[in-house]
Amino acid sequence: MKRFQARGSIDKNKRLVEQLRHHGVIKSREVAEVMETVDRGLFIFNGASAYVDSPMLIGYNATISAPHMHATCLELLKDHLQPGMRVLDVGSGTGYLTACFALMIGPEGRAVGIDHIPELVASSIENIKQSAAADLLGGGSLSVHVADGRLGFPDLAPFDAIHVGAAAAELPQPLVQQLKPGGRMVIPVGKVFQELKVVDKRMDGSVSVSTETSVRYVPLTSRDAQLRGA
Ligand code: SAH
Repeated sequence: MKRFQARGSIDKNKRLVEQLRHHGVIKSREVAEVMETVDRGLFIFNGASAYVDSPMLIGYNATISAPHMHATCLELLKDHLQPGMRVLDVGSGTGYLTACFALMIGPEGRAVGIDHIPELVASSIENIKQSAAADLLGGGSLSVHVADGRLGFPDLAPFDAIHVGAAAAELPQPLVQQLKPGGRMVIPVGKVFQELKVVDKRMDGSVSVSTETSVRYVPLTSRDAQLRGA
């Protein structure tokens, strides 16, 4: 029997989820359940700070998003993460959200994480192997790839849900194109001033965009620019 939890962390992860619930960030049973199941401590090198509601540096000028941002995005995408659905996580970083998505859509679904830093892709796969989503990785319904997220992942498109974990200067059209009719994308857009946008594709293919909240993410950029810290 695998543990799927960092040592001594079960209570801390549970407490974090309860706190997010108490503050109304987590609204649904599904999101509470998946965030309880995927132990955040397994995705951060310095496990002690994993349960604080704040973003953390993960190297390569990237951060793991704060738990309240993970919860917000999971809530916004929840209806598009039903069993059997297809999801793309752009800028998958530690792999935390990719693992959550994969558990929600289950073995009949397809969860794809992409990041342009090969070292982060490699370590995210190791993180996921320790987590409750390990079997999905083994079974092939979850995979993580090195790719430029601005281009999406055409091989497995279209997607019911697309999450973007880095801020785009403007809405990347390849990602809009790779959304299924009826699908939803959650993406931070902007430079210094950024807003979390919810992009819904209607069944007729037309698109509506609404603004959820102000946010601060690392940029969706080229690998070189990110490594230079530009
Ligand atoms: N959502 C992840 C990481 C967020 S940080 C988590 O919470 O763990 C944003 C991530 O986007 C970083 O890992 C960074 O490497 C990645 N990124 C930035 N620009 C990218 C691009 N053009 N293509 C792919 N990944 C990108």
